[in-house]
Amino acid sequence: MSTTKPLPESVLISESCLRNRIRELGAQISTDYENQELVLLGVLRGSVLFFADLARAIFSAQLTDSGRDVRVRFEFVQLTSYHNGTKPSRVQLIRGGSDYLQQRHVLIVEDIVDTGHTVKFLREHLRTLNPKTVKVCTLLDKPSQHQVPVAIDYIGFEIPDAFVVGYGLDYAQQYRNLPYIARLESP
Ligand code: 5GP
Repeated sequence: MSTTKPLPESVLISESCLRNRIRELGAQISTDYENQELVLLGVLRGSVLFFADLARAIFSAQLTDSGRDVRVRFEFVQLTSYHNGTKPSRVQLIRGGSDYLQQRHVLIVEDIVDTGHTVKFLREHLRTLNPKTVKVCTLLDKPSQHQVPVAIDYIGFEIPDAFVVGYGLDYAQQYRNLPYIARLESP
């Protein structure tokens, strides 16, 4: 293993904080989409742990209110972005975004909104697929880093401008399986 690999530094958001907040988001989403079919559209790969826990939280919220029924379907997209100095990132679709989204309620599930280019691109791409509604749920948001106006409907946590890893988020494909969010220490 390389000795220059950075190490996760301080825990920024603990496991229990993540659990509690995701439970709240699940309750809110199950209220907002009561008796509807909802397509959860996960953005690979960073959102996978959040996606899985959020989907379960939406279900659990229904158990506490038996009159509530949200039928949830899973879809995924994978994107790539190129950061070129100070120029805006160019985002491209690698796969996903099926025709099934037509006339459906779609909730984009993101790990983190930084510059906002990814969410802006995805909203524009989805418009071509003619969904009934599109909303965005992100676990983390760095509001000080937005470069484009971006509408976010559900935010887990606002965080400062720090590079974070864990709970799905990586550094060079490492640390995705940390059960908490941590800042990364420089080598
Ligand atoms: P945006 O298009 O909003 O600038 O970037 C969103 C994407 O950048 C995220 O989905 C994520 O892949 C990556 N990203 C932005 N900030 C961080 C961060 O602090 N840590 C990690 N691991 N990825 C980040």
